[in-house]
Amino acid sequence: MRQALILGTTNTGKVRELVVLLEPHGIRVVSLRECTGGVTVEETGQTFAENAALKASQQAVALKAWVLAEDSGLCVDALGGAPGIHSARFSGGGDDTANNRLLLERLGGVPAAARGAHYACHAALADPLGTVVAISQGTCHGRIAIAAGGAGGFGYDPLFVVPEYHRSFGEIAPEVKGVISHRARAMRAILPAILRHLAP
Ligand code: IMP
Repeated sequence: MRQALILGTTNTGKVRELVVLLEPHGIRVVSLRECTGGVTVEETGQTFAENAALKASQQAVALKAWVLAEDSGLCVDALGGAPGIHSARFSGGGDDTANNRLLLERLGGVPAAARGAHYACHAALADPLGTVVAISQGTCHGRIAIAAGGAGGFGYDPLFVVPEYHRSFGEIAPEVKGVISHRARAMRAILPAILRHLAP
C-alpha cells in the first residue's frame, strides 16, 4: 500500500473533490481534519503558486508527512483579476453566501459580454522535510452569471457559468466539474509526480 498523502486543506468542498480526483489512482488521501499536529499556515504569498508552496511545505514539516496543498480562487476580468488569491475572504468573513453576494454587487450593471472570469488552481507536493518536489496549475474559463444557479459544488460555483455547457458549476454534475475544472486539470498535471514519489 502506498504511503498516505495528506491534503493540506480543511476546506470540505476542496477535500471532497480532491478525494474523487486522487483515490481512483490508488492514492490514499487523508484530510488535514483527520490529522493531529497540523498547523495554520499564514497565506503570505503574493501569488497562488507561492501560497500553495507555503501550505504544502509548512504542513509537511509539521506533520512529517507527504503533503499535497493547493491554492485556488476566482479571477474576474472586470475586477482586474479580483478576488484572486483573496477569494476565500473576499467579503471579509470567508462565508460563501456573503462572497457571492458581494461579487454580484461589484458586477452590478456589467453586461454579459464583459463578465468573463477564470478559476485558477496551483498545486504543490512537499516531502516530509518540507521540500516542494512538484508543482502544477490548472485554469477553467467561464463568466459570472447575473444570478446564482444550482446548489452543487461550493464557493462561487453557483455564479460561475461554463460557456460550453450554458450552466453554472452549481448546476453541472460533479463528474463533469471533475474533468474540466481548474482543480481537475492541476491534479492531472501533478499526478505523475505523486505516483512517482509515493511508490507502493
Ligand atoms: P484558498 O483556500 O485560499 O485556496 O481559497 C480558495 C477559495 O477560492 C475558496 O474558498 C473559494 O472561495 C474559491 N474557490 C476555489 N476553487 C473553487 C471552486 O472550485 N469552486 C468555487 N469556489 C472556488
